[in-house]
Amino acid sequence: MSEKTTCVIVGGGPAGMIAGLLLARGGVDVTVLEKHADFLRDFRGDTVHPSTLRLLDELGLFEQFDALPHTKLSGWGLDLPDGRKAPVIDFTRLRLPHRYIAMVPQWDLLDLLAEAARNEPSFTLRMSHDVTGLIYERGRVAGVRYDSPDGPGQLRADLTIACDGRWSLCRREGGLIPREYPVSADIWWFRLPKAEGVGDTLLPRFKDGQFLGVIPRENYLQTAYFLRKGADARLRARGIEALRADIVNAIPELAEAVNSLAMDDVKLLDIRLNRLRRWYTNGLLCIGDAAHAMSPAGGVGINMAVQDAVAAARLLAAPLREHRVTAQDLAAVQRRREFPTAVTQTGQRFLHAAMLRAMNAGTTPAPTRALRILARFPQLAAIPAYLMGVGVRPEHAPQFARRAPQPVSAATDR
Ligand SMILES: Cc1cc2nc3c(=O)[nH]c(=O)nc-3n(C[C@H](O)[C@H](O)[C@H](O)COP(=O)(O)OP(=O)(O)OC[C@H]3O[C@@H](n4cnc5c(N)ncnc54)[C@H](O)[C@@H]3O)c2cc1C
Repeated sequence: MSEKTTCVIVGGGPAGMIAGLLLARGGVDVTVLEKHADFLRDFRGDTVHPSTLRLLDELGLFEQFDALPHTKLSGWGLDLPDGRKAPVIDFTRLRLPHRYIAMVPQWDLLDLLAEAARNEPSFTLRMSHDVTGLIYERGRVAGVRYDSPDGPGQLRADLTIACDGRWSLCRREGGLIPREYPVSADIWWFRLPKAEGVGDTLLPRFKDGQFLGVIPRENYLQTAYFLRKGADARLRARGIEALRADIVNAIPELAEAVNSLAMDDVKLLDIRLNRLRRWYTNGLLCIGDAAHAMSPAGGVGINMAVQDAVAAARLLAAPLREHRVTAQDLAAVQRRREFPTAVTQTGQRFLHAAMLRAMNAGTTPAPTRALRILARFPQLAAIPAYLMGVGVRPEHAPQFARRAPQPVSAATDR
């Protein structure tokens, strides 16, 4: 079976769903193909940053988003030995409509975007459609092949947008090879039950060369344990008691909570940091993680993916509507988004280097001069808050995609 649309988007993650929604609001015939049957998935980042909250406002979706169960993170700080608190990041100092990071399960956000997009007549979302390859015609990408519960099929399109994440098949098939940056650490992610003494704010702890981060969620603590790259098998072989001891050493408040943790609950995140030199070929554009895998440092991956999608929709809606999209149009998307991506990834590489130094030293780092300055001048915590929460060259919804606030539906008002 071969069908035709104007734009096919591969992958219904944050990049794919935002690009699909915005292009459909721009009057483009767009189909999103997502290989999973639903948006439920393992933890893969739940942070919605102030710039994305503002975008949801512009799209008329903030009220619905706000009705989803979520927690808010307005900043975080570190304790100094003299008892003072150094605010490292303080979103409340930003001049923005929503001065916090919202922690929302990613599937809830994706469901909300899908529901909004379904209101657009030119939008189609096909779940359980696994893209298996690109179709080439006269040297140009002309659509995709897929497997679905109804059998294999083909969808032809003027443009294929690869939003299929950091292991992107479309990128590989399009012959686009990312430049890899060396990364020194991986992360183990696991859930712990709520614990006395662990409040509602992000809890980063560095002790004896071991770094842990706790993200409080409604009913549990999403916990990150940093390990040297490649150490997964060796550390697993030590067994669960050794891991529990490391956790309690860094965060004694978790002494009881760790008892329920089993090694099978511990999931490895192979941290990657890479970026395509060229984000497009004729008929194919990569955005989001498919163009640049971000490290979890700063929790910016979702927002970078969203920003790429907004820029792509703004720059491509008109040429797509008129069926005249060219390689130059795709190059314009890369030009717009490459610089902010490079700046953010450079910041992440600095953070990695600092973490590796502390891990190698095997010590608890002493407060730096920067922390003492932040304790003295807390207003400076607005600078890292802006860099993390808004970033370089933030994107706004194009006029054609803006809507008045939409009422909260029964589905989202839980
Ligand atoms: C464990 C973990 C923790 C993370 N923590 C954070 C965090 O705290 N904050 C943050 O901002 N970011 C975090 N990230 C990164 C964040 O998840 C990504 O940067 C972001 O989701 C990228 O969005 P995307 O739409 O580009 O790709 P993805 O979210 O990866 O979406 C890709 C989509 O494409 C689909 N797909 C893939 N292949 C195919 C195919 N062949 N056919 C059809 N569909 C396909 C996938 O099923 C998926 O739905 C984390 C990632 C991981 C893995």
